[in-house]
Amino acid sequence: MNVAFYQGKTISLSTYERELWQALYLASLNNKVTCIHCHMPVQLQLSILEPPTFKHSQLTDQCLEAANEMEKRLQQPEHDTTQVANGFQLPKSRTISHQHKNRPSHVWKKPEYVEAIPPFQAIQHTTNGNLSGYRKELYQRGIHFDESQWEAVTTTEGPVMILAGAGSGKTRVLTARAAYMLTELHYSPKKLIMVTFTAKAAKEMKERMATYPKMNQSLLNQLMIGTFHRIFYKILLHHEPKRWASSLLLNMDWQRQAILKSAGREIDIDEKDFAYDQALTQISLWKNHMLTPELVKTTNSWEEKILYLYKRYEAIKKENQSFDFDDMLLGAYDLFKKHPDILSRYQRRFTYVSVDEFQDTNKIQYELITMLTKSNNLCIVGDDDQSIYAFRGSDPSFMLHFDQAYPHLKKVLLNQNYRSSHEIVSTAHNIITSNRTRFQKQLIAQQHSEQLPLMFYPFNQEEEATMIVQDIKQKVQKGHQPNDFAILFRTNTAARALIERFIQSSIPFQLEMDGESFYKRRTVRKVLAYLRLAFDENDTKALTDLVGALFLKQEVTQEVKSLSITEDCSFIDALAKVNGIQPFQQRKLRALPAKFDELRRLQPYEAIVFIEREMGLADYVKKQGNEGNKMDRGSDDIKDLKEVAKLHESIEGFLQYIDHMTAKFEEFRLQRSATNAVQLLTIHRSKGLEFKHVYLIEAVEGGIPHDYALEALRDGDKQPLEEERRLMYVAITRAIDTLSISIPSKRRGKQVQRSRFVREMNQLSTRKLTHRGGTST
Ligand code: ATP
Ligand code: MG
Repeated sequence: MNVAFYQGKTISLSTYERELWQALYLASLNNKVTCIHCHMPVQLQLSILEPPTFKHSQLTDQCLEAANEMEKRLQQPEHDTTQVANGFQLPKSRTISHQHKNRPSHVWKKPEYVEAIPPFQAIQHTTNGNLSGYRKELYQRGIHFDESQWEAVTTTEGPVMILAGAGSGKTRVLTARAAYMLTELHYSPKKLIMVTFTAKAAKEMKERMATYPKMNQSLLNQLMIGTFHRIFYKILLHHEPKRWASSLLLNMDWQRQAILKSAGREIDIDEKDFAYDQALTQISLWKNHMLTPELVKTTNSWEEKILYLYKRYEAIKKENQSFDFDDMLLGAYDLFKKHPDILSRYQRRFTYVSVDEFQDTNKIQYELITMLTKSNNLCIVGDDDQSIYAFRGSDPSFMLHFDQAYPHLKKVLLNQNYRSSHEIVSTAHNIITSNRTRFQKQLIAQQHSEQLPLMFYPFNQEEEATMIVQDIKQKVQKGHQPNDFAILFRTNTAARALIERFIQSSIPFQLEMDGESFYKRRTVRKVLAYLRLAFDENDTKALTDLVGALFLKQEVTQEVKSLSITEDCSFIDALAKVNGIQPFQQRKLRALPAKFDELRRLQPYEAIVFIEREMGLADYVKKQGNEGNKMDRGSDDIKDLKEVAKLHESIEGFLQYIDHMTAKFEEFRLQRSATNAVQLLTIHRSKGLEFKHVYLIEAVEGGIPHDYALEALRDGDKQPLEEERRLMYVAITRAIDTLSISIPSKRRGKQVQRSRFVREMNQLSTRKLTHRGGTST
């Protein structure tokens, strides 16, 4: 039914402001929305496939009739609120609230399917009848290989490059190839190195291999398999155990940041207001490019500051004899350069090297791997369309130009996709063919599905999250397993609403992301500091943040604390009494107590607007905008925070909600081992993985492609947009059975355009590569 009673008013979903649906949904979870006839609680259903409705646990005919009657009456231009409707009388005081004006984004829109799919042509596999030997044994265990795959498995000597699209069995081939060398060719496991992109991938490969014929655990235990870092760190530890003792590793971000901060103080960078996390990323990027501080060429003042920090960071590490993750690879490179005898020992030992996900190799990794493989028995595997780590220095051209380093390179192209339906593969293909810098390849799906990729249209992020959670809940009730589902997002901040809805649901979920809770982000903390101090005058943490936001030196915090004791007043009143600062600052501080009085009277959303406009936050954010980087803007965080604020009526309630969500976030992030749980992960982390059902959120301009790429495009740089397109490709190709793409109408409170990639995927690619016999361009 469409009508219910809420906050003393009768409301109808056909006219109720869409912006308020989420608050209504949350209220209905707390039994605060009731049936207009029997007054029993009703729940608002916001699902992907069905129009919204109030669900009634004990629906009677009378309830339904009353609701229908009321709905009809509400449709009439003038309705008499005192009339009797099927025995139910609407009191005069019960008004119809929050009517919208039928703007398109405010009306629930039916989901649509991607229909730009070429006809599917079934493929007849002819080879399987006359298999023999090892391949037959594998086949009998359900591990199949097509001709090209088998060629790659058995080409063990010389340089080989397997270049192929997503889901074509690249990782399976690498696994089988190693097993083949161990159990068929009886190579010693000590001769093999297998580089994987993540530790998880290494573990999965070993597990897969354990199921292969004639394999035994002792062979697997001797195998050198893992990430670049793991493998080269092991080598370092062997030769220079003291220098590389794990106790000297700067394992955590905060440890590395602490060094940068101490260096930052030397040039008067304010610790609280400098994006040290971004500085670390930049330093790491330089190191991955093998650029020592002397080789770095800066292009702006932000980079100049970081270069200073970089120099000091390296010097301080040297003094402390500590090292970071990047040093592991650089250290191994130095070791080999300084000790050719050690290098040649490894060259003689590791005669069979393979690297998965080679498209994301960076300079130092490329140098190390080519240095090590003198035997030339190197097998690299990758898909240039899935190169998504440019920000860490990865560069697919190492792969695409590999034949320059290895002129006798054998190239194997795999062209069947064994993971996804034809409909999903075609959708991904429609998008990726718009990229200019790529190696064209075929990808032919094995089966087709009745289920076309779905596009659905929530109002905003909040509704998006609710719809997905409800959809999964319904499917789990029907027998699906939670770990059949994955929800992919472009950035951690995009997942805020989603994480919160999962926390509120009973569905088990696992969060795979780095970074802190949204509410602990620098700018968000500043806004919250104002709100907290408005209600807790002695919140010392909030005071520290507020002092930063007001551009005061951190020493002022101490002075305010002392003044609050000697003058027996609140921190806010003490701030107004601070001396020894610039007159304009003093004027600002003197006005604060009255402003805080005003702030206390406001609702959360209005309060944030007030803090921005009247209490100096806008200035702070502006300064951050200059300092910060394009990936991560403080002003965006405030916009996101305002969206949460809209769901709350009091500042105290808002802060309680935030504290609860922050605590829960930490709890879930630590809980790494959840089994059978819905996976929430960034697209970056989903690389190489597959899930039966995939949801991709925020497919809008600014979401994916990310704002920073659009900005680069406006400045004439197309590369970031191409990388975003690859990210979209990776996301889509994770799906085995179903793919649901969310296209919200609003983002950060503003109307947004659907992603250009959505437009592309709805246009049949002119390069018809998805069926056998298609032309390879
Ligand atoms: P990505 O590009 O995402 O890393 P990939 O090319 O490494 O993908 P795999 O993960 O190895 O692909 O394989 C994709 C899926 O297809 C897996 O479930 C794998 O077991 C299955 N698969 C691979 N080859 C075959 C085959 N010949 N017959 C049946 N299934 C296969
Ligand atoms: Mg793979």
